[in-house]
Amino acid sequence: MTDRLDWIQKELDGLKEAGLYNRIRTLSSPQGAWLVVDGKRVLNFCSNNYLGMANNPRLVAAAKQALDTYGVGPGAVRTIAGTMDLHLELERRLAAFKGVEAAITFQSGFTANLAAIAALVTKDDIIFSDELNHASIIDGCRLSGAPTIRFAHANPADLERVIVEHQGTYRRALCITDGVFSMDGDIAPLDKIYEITSKHGIMLMVDDAHGEGVMGKGGRGIVDHFHLHGKVDIEVGTLSKAFGVVGGLVAGKAVIVDWLRQRGRPFLFSSAVTPPDVAATIAAVDLLEESTELVDRLWSNARYFKDEMKRLGFDTGQSVTPITPVMLGEAPLAQQFSRELFEEGVFAMPLGFPTVPRGKARIRVMISAVHAQADLDQALEKFAKVGRKLGVIA
Ligand SMILES: *Cc1c(COP(=O)(O)O)cnc(C)c1O
Repeated sequence: MTDRLDWIQKELDGLKEAGLYNRIRTLSSPQGAWLVVDGKRVLNFCSNNYLGMANNPRLVAAAKQALDTYGVGPGAVRTIAGTMDLHLELERRLAAFKGVEAAITFQSGFTANLAAIAALVTKDDIIFSDELNHASIIDGCRLSGAPTIRFAHANPADLERVIVEHQGTYRRALCITDGVFSMDGDIAPLDKIYEITSKHGIMLMVDDAHGEGVMGKGGRGIVDHFHLHGKVDIEVGTLSKAFGVVGGLVAGKAVIVDWLRQRGRPFLFSSAVTPPDVAATIAAVDLLEESTELVDRLWSNARYFKDEMKRLGFDTGQSVTPITPVMLGEAPLAQQFSRELFEEGVFAMPLGFPTVPRGKARIRVMISAVHAQADLDQALEKFAKVGRKLGVIA
């Protein structure tokens, strides 16, 4: 007799045999340069907490105050009774920070992509999407029902080729690219992409999840980095990486934000972000507007770590951002390297196929502003030790 759920255990066993089963480590400390992971105190190079905001005292204090004033939950979706004055204040502050007409927030960057893409195009339209775009963009494209044409990664010439190839077959077109690509730390050639999309009258959307709070002046994002204000139509961002809290946003022209308030399904049918989250995010915007100190420290830490790793003989790939891949080749080597680092008190993630192409397995080092010089030096020493032991460097 077979149970109708037996297939699930078989699938799970298959994942384990293939080495693809996700074993999830557990933290029992706040986010920061150091973590307690599975009971062990380790140096943290895994988080997207670029600026250390996740445990910043100013954000914690703002969240506590909001708890006392507004309670713990929003009580409804934004369009019924879930919009508090705090939500509107955050949206005004984000719009001002990013230098756009308006902004709208969502529960996450993931839902921001689902909301925006499905509201902008339908089956009569078309999407041109970078082949390495994030999973939430891929899901948003599917949800929209619009045919999705992939173009070669970060390749404006190939974008133009597919646009020309499909001319006359669609009503409206939307081009979507990640701003920063999280596996390699490279960035989209947004200026060149804009030249092409504007020439062909195509809407342009960038998902700047890893660029928000990192790229541009004082962390204003990749559009600011390329001086493309008012040219990129839709900027999607997350409040859960450099901003240190949780949530997503869309920034752009007022008419787009107005449309998403009417047609962004996660905005209409899923509850609002909680008051403490919103208040903490407003405090994050305060910090970014007051000073570029955290963003500057993030970049100087990243430059130092990358330069020293290269000097040790490691291949750090094509990264132009604080995301530092350490290229190792085969997945088992990356896994072994990561395990040995963890034994030495350094927590850094191995990435292998299918997250990255076969033969391009790596360890991804996420640098933050709250790593002290001594933390970086300790990590470099451990990378050198494990690298020599495993024959990666001489
Ligand atoms: C992390 C990420 C997201 C999802 O953001 P969340 O706020 O965690 O849902 C979306 N897009 C890209 C490119 C990302 O890196």
